[in-house]
Formats: sequence, C-alpha cells, structure tokens
Amino acid sequence: MHISAKLAEAQRLQRPSYSFEFFPPKTAQGVQNLYDRMDRMHGFGPSFIDITWGAGGRLATLTCEMVKTAQSAYGLETCMHLTCTDMQKSKIDEALKEAYNAGCTNILALRGDPPREKEKWEATAGGFRYAKDLVKYIRDAYGNHFDIGVAGYPEGCDDQDDPELLIEHLKQKIDAGGTFVITQMFYDADLFLEWVAKCRKAGINVPIIPGLMPIHTHAAFMRRANWTKCHVPPEWHRKLNPIKNDDAAVREVGAQLVAGLCRKLLDNGIIHLHFYTMNLAQATRMVLDSLALTPTSDSPASKPLPWRQSLGLNRRDENVRPIFWRNRNRSYVARTQDWDEFPNGRWGDSRSPAYGELDTYGIGLKGTNEANRKLWGEPKTLKDVADLFVNYMSGKVEALPWSESPISSEADTLRDDLINLNSRGLLTINSQPPVDGARSSHPVYGWGPRNGYVFQKAYLEVLVSPELITELLTRMDRNEDITYYAVNQAGDLKTNAGDGSGHGDEGPNAVTWGVFPGKEIVQPTIVETVSFLAWRDEFFRLGNDWGRCYDASSVSRYVIKEMMETWYLLNIVHNDFRQQRGIFPLFEGLQVPDMDKPMMGLTNSDTHSNDKEPTVNGKHSVSNVNGHAEAEALTNGEKPETQGADISEPHVTGADTSNKDDKTTNGYHDA
Ligand SMILES: Cc1cc2nc3c(=O)[nH]c(=O)nc-3n(C[C@H](O)[C@H](O)[C@H](O)COP(=O)(O)OP(=O)(O)OC[C@H]3O[C@@H](n4cnc5c(N)ncnc54)[C@H](O)[C@@H]3O)c2cc1C
Repeated sequence: MHISAKLAEAQRLQRPSYSFEFFPPKTAQGVQNLYDRMDRMHGFGPSFIDITWGAGGRLATLTCEMVKTAQSAYGLETCMHLTCTDMQKSKIDEALKEAYNAGCTNILALRGDPPREKEKWEATAGGFRYAKDLVKYIRDAYGNHFDIGVAGYPEGCDDQDDPELLIEHLKQKIDAGGTFVITQMFYDADLFLEWVAKCRKAGINVPIIPGLMPIHTHAAFMRRANWTKCHVPPEWHRKLNPIKNDDAAVREVGAQLVAGLCRKLLDNGIIHLHFYTMNLAQATRMVLDSLALTPTSDSPASKPLPWRQSLGLNRRDENVRPIFWRNRNRSYVARTQDWDEFPNGRWGDSRSPAYGELDTYGIGLKGTNEANRKLWGEPKTLKDVADLFVNYMSGKVEALPWSESPISSEADTLRDDLINLNSRGLLTINSQPPVDGARSSHPVYGWGPRNGYVFQKAYLEVLVSPELITELLTRMDRNEDITYYAVNQAGDLKTNAGDGSGHGDEGPNAVTWGVFPGKEIVQPTIVETVSFLAWRDEFFRLGNDWGRCYDASSVSRYVIKEMMETWYLLNIVHNDFRQQRGIFPLFEGLQVPDMDKPMMGLTNSDTHSNDKEPTVNGKHSVSNVNGHAEAEALTNGEKPETQGADISEPHVTGADTSNKDDKTTNGYHDA
C-alpha cells in the first residue's frame, strides 16, 4: 500500500501513525539480530518502515534483500531508499526491479551522500545529478506503481544552507512526481512548523513527515545535533547535561523531551511521526509509550487476519493458511514463496510439490548450539523434557524449537490443561481454544474488519509417546466430533479423515472463520493432509536440529533422538466449537511411563548409524528409524539490545566518538 494512502487514512480517522527507519548492518550476525528486532517492533504497530540505501557493494545489495525480507517474511510495509550516488541507470533499473519483485510499492528517492572517500558529491557517468531526476525516472518507468518520497531539510543541508533555495528544490522534486516528504532530523518544533508553513506557501501540498531521532546516549545526541547543525532548544541541554554520564537517565529524560516535541507536532495537525531508530528499539519504544501510541491489550493493533500477512509480490490477497505454522510465520512464507497462486495456493493436491525445500534459509532451528543449550538446558530424562515444556507453558522459557516466541495470551484459557498434559509427558506443540462468536474487535481472539464475529474450533497438536498412541487413537475413533491426524518421522500416518492420501479424504477443515458486514464468510485457517505432511518434515527436522545442539555421545542427544524417532505428532480438531472442553478429556488417565528413569547415552557408532532398534526406557520402540541428512543448525543467536543489532556507533558512555564515519550517522555507505 502507498504511504500517502496510509497517511490519508490516518488523517481521515484522526489517528496518529508512525514509522521506523532501519539501516543495513555491517555483519551477517547483525542482519539476523536486526530481523529479530524488526519482527518484535512489528508489534509496536508502525504503519511502515524504511531501509536506507548504502552506496556501493554489499550494503546496496543488502538494502534490496532486507526490503524483500521485511515485506514478505515480516509483513512490514517497507519503503526502500534509493540514491544516485555511484549508480548508473542500469543499476537503478536493477534495484527498482528488485523492489517491485519484493512487493514493495514505496521508494524514497535521494541524491545520496558522497561516498566515504570523497569530500564532494559527483554525478556518475550515465546516472543522475539530482534527486528530482531520479524521481522523474521512476515515475516515467513505473507510472503510479511506486509512491515516491523525497528528502526535506527544515534547517538546511550539507551542501546548501539557503532555506529559500532548498524549498525551491524541494518543490521541483514534488513537481517531478514526489508524493510525500520525509525531513532531516530536528529538535525544535517551532522551526519545523514554520518551515512547513513556508513549504505550503510555496505550493508544496503533499504530506510532510517529520524525521525524529530518539536519544540513546548523550554523546550520540550531541554528535548528531552537531553534524546536522540542527537547533537544540536550550532547555534540552539544561536537562541532559547534568546526567550525561548516566545512559539510563539520558534515555529516560531524552524520551520525555522527544515525546514533548512529538506532542507539539501532533497538536499542530501533524498526523505521522517518523523515527530514526538507529536499529535500536528501546529509545523509540519509550517515546511511543510516553505518547500512549503503542498497542496494548485493551487497544490491540488491528489484525486483518488471525496470522501475520505477507506483503510479498502477489501475496496481499492471501487469506488461507494451515494452522501448523502459526508459531513459524517466516518459515511458512519461505516455503511457499514460489507459489504463484494466492489465496488458495496448492493445498489439497498431494501430487504438487506444494511446499518448498526444507533447506531454504529461515527454516532451520534458530540460535547457536550454545545459546540453545542455555535456553533449553540439558535434558537427561523424559521428565526433564516435560519440565521444559511446562516451563514454556508457564511463561518461564521464551521459546521452544517449534515456537520462536513466548506462549501467547490466546493460550491463557488453556494454560492449566496444557501444563497438566505436559507434566504427564504429552508434549503440546500448538493449540487454540474454541470460540463461539467473539467480536472481531476482541483483544485476544479478534481479527478482520470491524463489527464482525469470529469463530474457531478447539485445536491441539501434541507429541505422543509410542506407548500411548494406540489407546489415544482408540478413544478418538469413538468420538464423532473429533478429526485427527497422527504421523511419526518415518511417515506412518493415522487419520480418521479419509484415507490420508490427500485424495478422497475430507479435504480442508476450516478451524477459524469470521462473519463480517457485507462480506462472504472468511475462513483463514485450515487443517488438512498435504500441509500436515509438509509440517511433519519441518517438525521432525527442528527436533533433530535440537538434538544436534548436544554432544554426539551425550544423554541429551540420545533422549531427543529417541523421541524424534519413535513418537507421533498428533493433531486433533474438535469440530463442535460450542463445546468448551472437548479435547482434554481424551487424555484422562494417560501418562508416559517411567518419565524420570535415566536414559543411556549414545555410543559414537550410534550417532552415525540409524539401523539399530532403539529402546525407550528399556522397552523396544514401535516405529522404525528414519535417517535425516545432518544439517548444521543456523547460528543466528540473539543479543541483548545494547550490544545487539549491529549499530553504527559504539555504545560508549559519555565518550565522543566523532570521526569521519559518524558523518554517515545512518550508516549509509559501505566501509
Ligand atoms: C529522510 C532522509 C533519508 C536519507 N536517506 C539516505 C540514504 O538512504 N542514503 C544516503 O546515501 N543518503 C541518505 N540521505 C542523505 C541525502 O542523500 C543527502 O542529504 C544528500 O546530500 C541530499 O540528498 P537529496 O535527495 O536531498 O538531494 P537533492 O534534492 O537532489 O539535493 C542535493 C543538492 O542539490 C541541490 N539542488 C537540487 N536541485 C537543484 C537544482 N535544480 N539546481 C541546483 N542545485 C540543486 C540541493 O539544494 C542540494 O544542495 C537521507 C536524507 C534524508 C533527509
């Protein structure tokens, strides 16, 4: 969606909106950390994000890649910066094509800073001289596909400090096809508002978005203010100087000062705020919290569908997904990226290679082996594994191999039942309670347009030991309201929904649906055979990756390997959505035997051969053993915020690290 359309909507509803700028980090680890942070910041409810353009080499390519990932995997409306620095027309064409293919519909067209090694900006042969030339070029080539933003300077820019002339140049960019303006950072609301009035007088009528820099440390605040030569109201210095060596206090007072600036802008009719996050979340979050703009449980962000929508090319109409990937949005998007047909995609036809390769980036287990061992401990018995799951359900552990985020509030009503099941060794992977018509605005279950009602069937996905599966299947076969699928790693599928082949079975079972004014029924989440089998591959792959976090001859590796090789992944739908507790009674009296019996470790030869019949707690396992190609876990561990996503400046208390690099505060250019 175009940024100017989003701004018009915010204006119409008189609801302030905001956006976040990120820049491409310098290291691969920094990129992964930043993705995690962007994912979390999605929850702050930005109406769009933008990614800066780093001239030359890897950073330019990275900008395109990040735009694609943000847009399609994280569902963030993304604006790509594009500059004329060192860019011949052919390179501009390539970048625009990549943006187009990523589903991106917004470009911020800039001339760019000079490359690091040059003092003055020079046009590239076969390229453009001014941002206005780039704007015109994009408009001519792509018509109205892209909304095109341009840069504005309320207090002058690097190579021009005549404000009148700068407004004239800004007007030329708008006349060439620019549809919104984002400004250089500033700290003086009055100066900005006066400048906006002058722009309006000069006939610049498009939305003007103020660029705001939250305060992370005193040194960085001073450096940026000096670099941009922006006016800092004396009160700011008075408040910040005495505490300049206390980072936490600077952030706290800084947040109040920036929030005060924002409040003044909002009071004067500015509806949208743009934050230079410097790839950090906390300072921006503090400002938004202080303005009471972030979503809360009482006033959640609007959810068009129960799952996070991808905004990749051709995906905006997607409105059906299997429930299995609910906690793994990114891997679902990656595995279906080659589908050319949404909303219905290719489920239901088991002959189609519906789901992409498991080796696609983003599908394997996250985190380094060391970080994962720290997170999940070193289980020596099945009871240890069960305790880990209980701790996840109680909110004491943040993630499991199959759930990248903490347990959601939707599980609150099921929590006691889930804890109970897990403590008996029935390991729950995914669940949802039944809902018989909640308002679409409901803070936990709601999604979709206003004034509608949403429904869902009870769903439970659980890993079941071989000792219990037969009894459980017998119980489920006796219950007409239940549909189930159970499968082990070797592919032994048991279901009561047809023959399980994908042909002649009962087809997709809608497990969430919504009824909205003036619309057909929407049924965005389903359960069915083909996708369950694709999920099975991913599920066991993740479990095996978890096992491989431990030493090859360790007991922990053995415990997890045994479970992956012998246990069944079972999903259960209770089709009577009006019954509150239809599923849990099925498990009454069931418990995995000998859960706390110590298990033997693997010998070295075991670790490389899959042809031995393993034993579980002294008993022979029921299923055969299936080998999986060893794949290294992705090493993309998360770092805490202060050392996290590769920030362009060191986080040094009170030190002024100003140097030539700092000129590109936003990390625009390759080192
Ligand atoms: C919101 C924002 C985002 C930015 N993102 C990036 C980024 O991602 N990557 C990056 O490298 N840099 C970025 N920059 C920095 C920007 O590229 C520099 O400030 C650059 O020096 C000016 O770019 P511009 O697009 O404003 O250029 P222009 O508008 O083309 O102006 C460049 C200079 O040419 C002058 N000029 C314009 N038209 C004429 C004319 N007709 N005749 C004579 N002189 C003229 C202007 O007055 C100015 O001095 C960003 C700046 C802002 C405010």
